[in-house]
Amino acid sequence: MSIKIFNTLTRKKEIFKPLKNNKVNIFVCGVTEYDYVHLGHARTYSFYDTMIRFMKYMDYKVTYLQNITDVGHLVNNSNEDKVEKKAKEEKKTPKKIVKYYLKNHLENFDKIKLLRPDIMEKATNNINEIIEQIKIILKNNYGYISNGSVYFDVSKFKKYGKLSNKVIEELKSGTRIKENLEKDDPHDFALWIKAKKNHLQKWKSPWSIGYPGWHIEDTAIAMKHFGKQYDIHGGAIELSFPHHEAEIAQAETITGKNNYVKYWVHTGILTIENEKMSKSTGNFIKLSDCLKENKPEVLRLWIASTHYRKPLNYNKKEIYDAKKKIEKLKNLFENIKSVKKTNKKENKKFKNEINKIKNKFIKSMENDFNTPLALTYLFEMISFTNKHIIESKGNCSKNELNIAEENIKKLCDFFQIIPKGKSKINNEIKKMINLREKFRKEKNWKKADEIRNKLNLEGIILEDTKNGVKWKKY
Ligand SMILES: [Zn+2]
Repeated sequence: MSIKIFNTLTRKKEIFKPLKNNKVNIFVCGVTEYDYVHLGHARTYSFYDTMIRFMKYMDYKVTYLQNITDVGHLVNNSNEDKVEKKAKEEKKTPKKIVKYYLKNHLENFDKIKLLRPDIMEKATNNINEIIEQIKIILKNNYGYISNGSVYFDVSKFKKYGKLSNKVIEELKSGTRIKENLEKDDPHDFALWIKAKKNHLQKWKSPWSIGYPGWHIEDTAIAMKHFGKQYDIHGGAIELSFPHHEAEIAQAETITGKNNYVKYWVHTGILTIENEKMSKSTGNFIKLSDCLKENKPEVLRLWIASTHYRKPLNYNKKEIYDAKKKIEKLKNLFENIKSVKKTNKKENKKFKNEINKIKNKFIKSMENDFNTPLALTYLFEMISFTNKHIIESKGNCSKNELNIAEENIKKLCDFFQIIPKGKSKINNEIKKMINLREKFRKEKNWKKADEIRNKLNLEGIILEDTKNGVKWKKY
């Protein structure tokens, strides 16, 4: 048994082999703390949560590291620092801004049951590490100083573009106009930025009083904990260029080693009603707002229903489907609780079938974390158990039910979708019962039986009595 991961760097699915035994070091780019966390964040970090839970299940010793960006992340096409800008707008200190949004971030991530990273590090607590790295880059002749700021010279790093598959010449010809006169080339990126007089967060350095660039923060924090090379770097796909490309350039010119990170993993974009989520157009949803309308387990199930590399779409239909599935899960757990149990030993065939389905689930997860396929096996196990309860006419072996329940809970655990609260027979089921009645009146027995069987898989039993159809749940 081994995990296969799609590596953005090689554009291939590769067999996962950690650098050292079964130890896995994972760094995932953290949040910039200047605004509320949104659904895009929920998508990205939920996937890494599932991935890490699965790796632990597969007996890997995982260390999960995340940075907290509290300085140096500039607003697109401007030299304004995101945290700094917010602080000035709200007339607060940058520290206060970061504290407030970090609290919101952690509270909401706790609600959707994301494992907290083993280590979380603020960039502002790593200024010395950052300055040391910049010194090495300059010493190795990959950077230059311009008017107190320090830039990385991308033309000297021949592999620049290897992750995102961009060629420097191509990059250059597209953008001849210099966006910033202090840089030799528009694609050179800032390692250190000289602070303007009214800038709030600034530190002394050999070059100027200033603050670090965004990309070097991650390299400094990751190398402090993981050393020159590590196993997995995660993040959303839109970070692959220039952010991750810059991280590779920095790290590999500092260490002189190739393959700073062995596996680069990227999650796909989030769309809302099929349009790309974007703050600038107002097409974005805060996680806290979404949680007012939807249970955390519904969101986690919706996220896992799409493969992590594909675009994930948010709309009413997708959320409705996830809600229905959570109801199905609730029904099953209630059925197991309420059914009469016997002390019969478990039936081998039953146990084997549960194991067979579980193995298919694990295989799907091993194959580049195919969560949508894995979920179909989880629901196959649920239907199989419901059917078994019904077929044994309400007298099930306690052992069998324990086996089913334990396995189903274990599989739910990867996505944190074990539901809370009582199930409601939803309108959908009532509609199906009415439709079956209609078919019976028309003597369309085949269609009527099809519906009965479908309902059985949901754990609903129909009884035809003189006074009409009655239903019950196990
Ligand atoms: Zn990052």
